Amino acid sequence: MTSPVAISENPLDPGLYIVATPIGNLADLSPRAADILSRADIVAVEDSRVTAGLLRHIGIKRPMVPYHDHNAEGVRPGLIARMAQEAVALVSDAGTPLISDPGYKLVRDARAAGHAVVTIPGPCAAIAALTLAGLPTDRFLFCGFLPSKAKARADAIAEVAAVRATLILYESGPRLAACLAALAEGLGDRDAAVTREITKRYEEAVTGTLTTLAARYADSPPRGEIVIVVAPPGEAPPPDAADADAALAEALTRLPVAKAAGEVAKAFGLDRKDLYARALVMRQAADGG
Ligand code: SAM
Repeated sequence: MTSPVAISENPLDPGLYIVATPIGNLADLSPRAADILSRADIVAVEDSRVTAGLLRHIGIKRPMVPYHDHNAEGVRPGLIARMAQEAVALVSDAGTPLISDPGYKLVRDARAAGHAVVTIPGPCAAIAALTLAGLPTDRFLFCGFLPSKAKARADAIAEVAAVRATLILYESGPRLAACLAALAEGLGDRDAAVTREITKRYEEAVTGTLTTLAARYADSPPRGEIVIVVAPPGEAPPPDAADADAALAEALTRLPVAKAAGEVAKAFGLDRKDLYARALVMRQAADGG
């Protein structure tokens, strides 16, 4: 035990308490999270050994019920029933429950049963990585873990390629280089950051383009826990004047001047009046005038 918490004697109201826990540095457990854990009647946990360590750190013992991907369907009804009388805390091994971790069905069913649902927010690797990456934060898309098989991963990347947002992905060390290379292939060579071991002793954020990062990690897969952050797509380059002229010349073979100008303006995102004037010049030149 390194940091005793002030434990309230008051029982908690019955319901579900979603409690975020540290992603490495135990000092990141909030006082409120520690207080709720200390007063919960039971704690639903992914791995009781991991959570026992956290509870030991704050000097408490609570009854734990395993709740993870392999038993959730069977355990959930019992937990929901207990929420009528008891305070059930939900934690994952690290970070915010429900974020690439079990829990959303527990929240859904708790609400459906009319139980109170309370969140105790705190660490989340995705958000911590976003703050370290130095990439735009105004719009971001959390992609979780991509599929490990190459084809499924490429398909998943293609689905988000046009999204105008910073992308956040969880990945493991052994798969990092292949994932970065697939991202470069599917998204273009965007700026990115590989953040690792956040809040821990060897925390780092390595920035570069996707291809330089893929090369860096190709022969030396990093240890520890990893989040990849990828910049949004760049602005589309301005249309090339020669391409617009070529399209206009072709359109003039099929259409009257105004319609040809309209079609090309729409296709290239250019000003219709400018193109109309240009089309008139081209038509006159073609007519020998
Ligand atoms: N629920 C957790 C959260 O709020 O971030 C995420 C759980 S997910 C099963 C675990 C993944 O999160 C790891 O494989 C890694 O990609 C990322 N992660 C967790 N802790 C991390 C850390 N300290 N540094 C970097 N990435 C971390």
